[in-house]
Amino acid sequence: MYDVRSRKATEFIDDAEVLASLAYGEEHKTDRALIESLIERAEDCKGLTHREAAVLLECQLPDLNERMFALARRIKERLYGNRIVMFAPLYLSNYCVNGCVYCPYHAKNKHIRRKKLSQEEIAREVIALQDMGHKRLALETGEDPVNNPIEYVLESIKTIYGIHHKNGAIRRVNVNIAATTVENYRKLKEAGIGTYILFQETYNKKQYEALHPTGPKSDYAYHTEAMDRAMEGGIDDVGCGVLFGLNLYRYDFVGLLMHAEHLEAAFGVGPHTISVPRICPADDIDPANFSNAVPDEIFEKIVTVLRIAVPYTGMIISTRESKATRERVLNLGISQISGGSRTSVGGYVEPEKEEENSAQFDISDNRTLDQVVNWLLELGYIPSFCTACYREGRTGDRFMSLCKSGQIVNCCHPNALMTLKEYLLDYASPDTREKGLATIERELEKIPNEKVRAIARAHIQEMEQGQRDFRF
Ligand code: SF4
Ligand code: SF4
Repeated sequence: MYDVRSRKATEFIDDAEVLASLAYGEEHKTDRALIESLIERAEDCKGLTHREAAVLLECQLPDLNERMFALARRIKERLYGNRIVMFAPLYLSNYCVNGCVYCPYHAKNKHIRRKKLSQEEIAREVIALQDMGHKRLALETGEDPVNNPIEYVLESIKTIYGIHHKNGAIRRVNVNIAATTVENYRKLKEAGIGTYILFQETYNKKQYEALHPTGPKSDYAYHTEAMDRAMEGGIDDVGCGVLFGLNLYRYDFVGLLMHAEHLEAAFGVGPHTISVPRICPADDIDPANFSNAVPDEIFEKIVTVLRIAVPYTGMIISTRESKATRERVLNLGISQISGGSRTSVGGYVEPEKEEENSAQFDISDNRTLDQVVNWLLELGYIPSFCTACYREGRTGDRFMSLCKSGQIVNCCHPNALMTLKEYLLDYASPDTREKGLATIERELEKIPNEKVRAIARAHIQEMEQGQRDFRF
């Protein structure tokens, strides 16, 4: 039985409810009056239910699909402006005891090079990331209680926050590690993590069990209920996602929204972010073996309808996607992207030789961070290295209520410009610096509050004298 508040995975992601929602979407896919009314209602940025979103996803009326794209752009513009938050993944260890059939770190892969970074190696990776200009990381490890116990993750977080190379600092460490206990989530919270990220991969229980034949991750309920335990452990910013292509995208799309509704209903705060990875090639993984691959047009529609259904949830895209795809979906609702990423363990200090492959997936967008920043500036975006909310304690429901009241916009825009200025002064190439400075001048004028504008302008000046780390 479907129960949005239940703590049981099979009740808050009730299979019958997913299927009924998909049937509802199918039934109404040409229902012009209903689809128009949903598009009109969603204009208020209050989102849609999973059933309503299923209708929009299925919509077969080209003119209404166009209206949806335009609506997603408007919502994005209203809530996120033209800011794009930058981050990088940091792979600590690829030891893993699980058997996920879509990931080259699976335990049976005997030819991938296994590696776990020592604290000294982590320090070197972090210095390399700081020298690129990154301020926000997403930690990644495989699941292995012997090689990557929670103590290792906690020690690594401490190492990362402790390194200040030149003007560099990592100011927010998000963590993407396997589902764990309330006690371990509490420890992660105490270590000062930003978002706890865990991808569901697929919400379809049967499919999930087939894709995870061995290891602790094969327990669907334990994995699906992980965000509940994280919340219980005090982590109020959680990041959800599915790996599109593993299962029928429609099912996972609805499951993702039902998960978001569950967190909101049970804990008063929905996911902080949603990631939209698609399956892509890696060491012994060939996407051709997965028959549910999601084509570009559908992928764009997924991003569009997610933006409309959960307007206040940040949306993340990685370098799995090509420059061209990233450009298209940035326009439709993506608010965070990675840049200059290495998906191998230790890859920032020493890019791997091909025969040593320890990467989790092949990167489609191989550009440096500076090239990505330059490209964003050319497209009219403001690359932002802001981490202010987390550091000001604006997390969980505090963050969401600020977002929903519209006040967050008064922080984001000046913070984006101030952190961009830091980047330009310390790390940018001359061309990027020139474009960035012009962007800052132009965008400062757009800060509506006169007082905030004056303070931001003053701080941006003060940075020329060496001061850093201003924030609202
Ligand atoms: S997806 Fe995660 S848990 Fe599964 S094999 Fe890869 S690293 Fe291990
Ligand atoms: S002010 Fe908060 S919401 Fe805005 S970009 Fe910075 S961290 Fe994100």
